[in-house]
Amino acid sequence: MSKWAFVEAALAARRERMQLRRLETVEGGSGAAIEVGGRRMLNFCSNDYLGLARHPLLQQRAADYLARYGTGSGSSRLICGNHAYFGPVEERLARLKGTEAALVFNSGFQANATILPALADRQTLILSDRLNHNSLIQGARLARCRVEVFAHNDMAHLAELLERHRRSFRRILIVTESVFSMDGDLCPLAEIAALAQAAGAILVVDEAHATGVIGPQGMGLTCGQAVDVAIGTFSKACGGFGAYVAGSRQLCDYLINCCAGIIYSTALPPAVLGAIDGALALIPGMQAERRRLHALAERLRTALGRMGWDCGPSSTQIIPVLVGSEGETLALSQWLGAHGIFASAIRPPTVEKEKSRIRLAVTALHTQEDIERVIEAFGQWKN
Ligand SMILES: *Cc1c(COP(=O)(O)O)cnc(C)c1O
Repeated sequence: MSKWAFVEAALAARRERMQLRRLETVEGGSGAAIEVGGRRMLNFCSNDYLGLARHPLLQQRAADYLARYGTGSGSSRLICGNHAYFGPVEERLARLKGTEAALVFNSGFQANATILPALADRQTLILSDRLNHNSLIQGARLARCRVEVFAHNDMAHLAELLERHRRSFRRILIVTESVFSMDGDLCPLAEIAALAQAAGAILVVDEAHATGVIGPQGMGLTCGQAVDVAIGTFSKACGGFGAYVAGSRQLCDYLINCCAGIIYSTALPPAVLGAIDGALALIPGMQAERRRLHALAERLRTALGRMGWDCGPSSTQIIPVLVGSEGETLALSQWLGAHGIFASAIRPPTVEKEKSRIRLAVTALHTQEDIERVIEAFGQWKN
């Protein structure tokens, strides 16, 4: 038997289930438009929620940093990669998050996959929301400690798990997201923070889809809240790349010393830090864009709901349209594509069986007409 038999089998199984995935080349487009396979479509898949990825200030600042500092940082931050442009970005970030300190990480995936193992030891219990992002699941696995999953946003279940286990574990981490990436709903932060505080647990919150979009100055739900470890990414609404953790000075000092993601990876390149600096300068003042974004999302959600579509508990720019079966979800996604709307079909294993959906991501670049076109397309499918 070929040593690659497992690869052939895995690909064949996916092909059979119509789950074989391939990379689509995105050829062009700007703003809310995208060109795929020679066709121009309205893009409802992008996480560039504020349209900052093509903002002139970010492009200019990235170009300036590139010209001044070159293309690479040269080493990890602990060796000689901690260039002068990291400090001011981290100070600004900490101010915006309302924390003592902040630390730039290379990506959200890397932050989640390496911060959880740094905070947990073998005697730790991780309590993780059922809908947490894969990077948090990888981090919990790497931590090699006991992991218990609580039902999504179910505070009674979380309280019960805390009560059952608190005496058997020296350390408990509660891990959740502020805006959930597939359902677009918020976590009940005040309640979860109160539970964590009462149990003496460490609360870790991933703000990937909240940073830039919600909360005071758009900097997320955790600002000014009793959250021990706030993690976020610069790759979504911030329009660039890289990630952060915000918390106490002691937490950041600990991660600099004990987190593999910081210690064993080269620091982000200058141009990326330039873009982050530009995004952080703009985001607090983008209140009007955020209001428009939320109004567009509200209009879309309400209209779909009126037509009988189930948008789940979404209350943000992420709007899942629950279809149910995989087949019908795929068909709807292709039908939307034929109508010039690029929207992703999310199917198992990303979501549970019979919870297949179209995931619509609204951005501030969409116009009122774009939203009406989507509403019309969903309406026609129903008839
Ligand atoms: C996208 C995402 C990440 C990963 O962030 P990157 O910076 O893209 O690696 C982590 N957590 C959540 C919830 C995400 O949606």
